Amino acid sequence: MKIPRSHPRYKSLIQRQLLINGLRDGFVTEAGLIAHGRGEAFDYLLGERTTEEGEIAERVAIAMLLLSKNPVISVNGNTVALVPRGIVELADITNSKIEVNLFHGSREREELIKKILRENGAKEVLISGEKYKLIPGLDSERARVNPDGIWISDTVLVPLEDGDRTESLVRMRKNVISIDLNPLSRTSQYATISIVDNIVRAIPNMIEFAKEMKNCDKEELNSIVSKFDNKKNLEKIIRRIRTEF
Ligand code: ATP
Repeated sequence: MKIPRSHPRYKSLIQRQLLINGLRDGFVTEAGLIAHGRGEAFDYLLGERTTEEGEIAERVAIAMLLLSKNPVISVNGNTVALVPRGIVELADITNSKIEVNLFHGSREREELIKKILRENGAKEVLISGEKYKLIPGLDSERARVNPDGIWISDTVLVPLEDGDRTESLVRMRKNVISIDLNPLSRTSQYATISIVDNIVRAIPNMIEFAKEMKNCDKEELNSIVSKFDNKKNLEKIIRRIRTEF
């Protein structure tokens, strides 16, 4: 479908089309479309822009990724449909591994997502593989992770993750950075740093912040992380939704 640039909802329609194409090509699921719809509703309430709180969380997340020894970016079908190149760029600049992690997992979808990321310049893309480990507390289908990726990571960036997995990763004492437009989701509530922003804005912002911050010394990065109060930041966003729109 050709979407005219003049359409007032151009950006939103482009995102929908990317997901529909992903469904057609077999790496986005029907449930992924529904999850996107929930995201859209919250994006509407946030004015379809990055809020001050979103930007702060994005900066803190970059400080945390740069401080981490084994950071991993976890990706699913929706993420790859919307920001494939951005994920690769962010992984490069923050020295993070990329791991495919699917709620509705199948070997075929994993391989498709891996292929797309490789076409977008990723040198290495991990999948749970034959020697997978299981995240404790989850049913086995969703618990599988790569032993050299999420399993040994200290920080995991989880865009568009579900609440159970976020909670389990936090229980494993990992730093979890979420990107989720819904500030009330269990993911946003459990994460160490909750970025409430659309992934299509959050990832490019984070790449810019990483370029700015990559030469900061550890002390400066530590101070950015330790001054941040995730609960307060989330409360501010919820208040913003209640009062501004
Ligand atoms: P939880 O399990 O965390 O309570 P949920 O059941 O809503 O949340 P999912 O159905 O897995 O979780 O939905 C994924 C989440 O992704 C939703 O909360 C939705 O707001 C969010 N989301 C969808 N599209 C985007 C997007 N483009 N950018 C950021 N967040 C998004």
